[in-house]
Amino acid sequence: MQFQTLSVLAGSEACNARCPFCVSKMTPPNGIKLKEPEVNWRNFRKACILAHRSGVSTVMFTGKGEPTLFPNQITKYLRRMQEFEFPMIELQTNGITLADLPEEYDSYLREWYELGMTTIAVSVVHYNPEQNRRVYLPYKKAYINLPELIRKLHRLNLSVRLTCVLLRGFIDSVPRLEELAAFARDNKVEQLTVTPVNKPEDIRDTAVWNWTNQHHISPEQVAEIAKFLKEKASHLRTLAHGAEVYDLNGQNICLNHCLDVRPNSKEMRNLIFFPDGHLRYYWQYPGAILL
Ligand code: SF4
Repeated sequence: MQFQTLSVLAGSEACNARCPFCVSKMTPPNGIKLKEPEVNWRNFRKACILAHRSGVSTVMFTGKGEPTLFPNQITKYLRRMQEFEFPMIELQTNGITLADLPEEYDSYLREWYELGMTTIAVSVVHYNPEQNRRVYLPYKKAYINLPELIRKLHRLNLSVRLTCVLLRGFIDSVPRLEELAAFARDNKVEQLTVTPVNKPEDIRDTAVWNWTNQHHISPEQVAEIAKFLKEKASHLRTLAHGAEVYDLNGQNICLNHCLDVRPNSKEMRNLIFFPDGHLRYYWQYPGAILL
């Protein structure tokens, strides 16, 4: 079996943002240090061996919360995976700590670069700071200075990907997508990925369900965006999980989709390592488990 990516869950469910479509837990007030979650290092090595043997080119640090709240854990993961020499190592983040705490985090970023990290993927919902503030930091007066964060990451020789969730009232049409692509181009962002939010099925968290239900974009809106890219951008490649990558006036842009299951495909998208030692291959199915 071939895998494209080893996804490593870093950190815990704690997050310093408060997105209304997410069930992560708010971090405690300033000054209280969070306890670093334990990792089953033996099974992490097994995951790396399997990933290495099955052709994984990319490792992605992600989390149920914000991974950078536990920077030392990211460093430990990077050190332990060095022997496998994965070519691409990426970190998914909301960017808040990286932008707001430079004294602490610039040195982490330098160290992670030395340990092989290649790409910082910053999640956004818009190019407009006020729209991003409404979603990520409703409890603060201002959103981070995103262009400045991108410039800093570039100064540190890291590639930047903006990963934008498509939401009704945010980036939900061709004109808004073109503006987002122009923002990415102006800021020399290497990659832009856009992913429509699915209509929620799980109704355990009513507030999250209600918000997502009101803000998911319709299949017609997604189809309009897909048609625009097909007609106006140059199609570069189709990824194994069906995402389409384009060049739109010089800007890389990937139209992604969530939670796709392809039982007959020889190439799987994801090998997912959970800190408790479990190894899975689909996020949404507890039964999709190897260890
Ligand atoms: S930044 Fe990510 S983990 Fe944090 S609240 Fe938003 S979606 Fe959830």
